[in-house]
Amino acid sequence: MTAFTESAERTALRKAVFALAGTFGGDYVRECVAAGRKTTELWDAVAKAGYLGVAVEEQWGGGGGDIGDLAAVMEELSAAGCPLLLMVVSPAICGTVIQQYGTPEQQDRWMPGFADGSLTMVFAITEPDAGSNSHNLATNVREDGGEWVLNGGKYYISGVDEASHVLVVARHRQPDGSLGLPSAFIVPTDAPGLTARVIEMDIAMPEQQFTLFFDDVRLPADALVGDPAAGLAQLFAGLNPERIMGASSALGMARYALDKATAYARTRQVWSTPIGAHQGIAHPLAHCAIQVELARLMTQKAAALYAAGEPGAGAAANMAKYAAAEASVAAVDQAVQTHGGNGLATEYGLGSLLVASRLARIAPVSREMILNYVSQHTLGLPRSY
Ligand SMILES: Cc1cc2nc3c(=O)[nH]c(=O)nc-3n(C[C@H](O)[C@H](O)[C@H](O)COP(=O)(O)OP(=O)(O)OC[C@H]3O[C@@H](n4cnc5c(N)ncnc54)[C@H](O)[C@@H]3O)c2cc1C
Repeated sequence: MTAFTESAERTALRKAVFALAGTFGGDYVRECVAAGRKTTELWDAVAKAGYLGVAVEEQWGGGGGDIGDLAAVMEELSAAGCPLLLMVVSPAICGTVIQQYGTPEQQDRWMPGFADGSLTMVFAITEPDAGSNSHNLATNVREDGGEWVLNGGKYYISGVDEASHVLVVARHRQPDGSLGLPSAFIVPTDAPGLTARVIEMDIAMPEQQFTLFFDDVRLPADALVGDPAAGLAQLFAGLNPERIMGASSALGMARYALDKATAYARTRQVWSTPIGAHQGIAHPLAHCAIQVELARLMTQKAAALYAAGEPGAGAAANMAKYAAAEASVAAVDQAVQTHGGNGLATEYGLGSLLVASRLARIAPVSREMILNYVSQHTLGLPRSY
């Protein structure tokens, strides 16, 4: 083994997850979307095998691995055509934040559920009037009689209908009425005063997106996770895993599309040779394969740095997410082109990925905000905003 290959254990994990996911596949997800069903059977099967809890410490029943293992699970599911979007938010963000910053009581209460997948907790930071500017968040909490009172709203929150709880980022209302630092609060999705409204989307996925409204939602004192004085720094513990997971999901989709494209290009023949022999088809696919490998390497580096607590994990996670999104968009586009008319036929399952692949360019952090980050932090350029 060298520094540029994964461990035998990680490789075996990938194989096992891909094999399990293959029993579901892209057709299963498309059937769920068409029927308006959730991919619960897939979530349960992945949970039962212990894959949702690979990064949870063993003391709570997890696999004792790290974000690189969870990212490998995500990538392999996606490469088999059946990504689980809520893995990005539930085990990767919420699980990480509570495992790192929760009190011992909170960890004992929540971590076993992340370990066995019986708990689904979604994550809410994005707000309509703040968007990419998380310093502009307006959702807030104030203390009242030993409880927290939550007010405000969020949008594009994934999977609220599938979750028992949502980890909400809200700012502390100061005695003078101003808004202070943000913290994360665990909120039951059926809490009085919380309403959720579905956002109709043009993206074919089983998970739905929601606008949330908080109207004097009362929470117990232990809803707060972590130190209220830590602010965004503590939340970034969950946001780098989110980026690594977003990258892994995109890479899996790229592999799925490339596999379909190369299989088709090897057999489809309209002149004297299969279309894959024409360089106009082969070279763009080879270019996509190179982009995917480069982005995978960066994603593995980001996961390794994050797991080791070494500096540079933030920049690497951002760059990985950027590279993976671009690789995925390019691979899906080329897979559609390779299939000719069949690329847009429902039967081949690629057309809907044209929209889905673009998600990684927008969420959890947009392409432009990553370029801003690299411009400022890597290149030392002044910021425009
Ligand atoms: C399917 C889906 C699922 C999601 N799930 C969740 C979730 O579970 N939880 C959650 O909290 N959020 C979620 N999001 C929200 C997502 O993180 C945001 O959409 C994303 O961060 C961008 O914010 P915005 O949509 O408000 O865009 P805006 O911030 O309004 O940006 C619009 C455009 O302007 C660009 N832009 C903004 N500022 C700058 C700048 N300074 N320089 C250059 N360009 C700039 C952006 O890059 C973008 O292209 C989800 C979104 C989608 C689409």
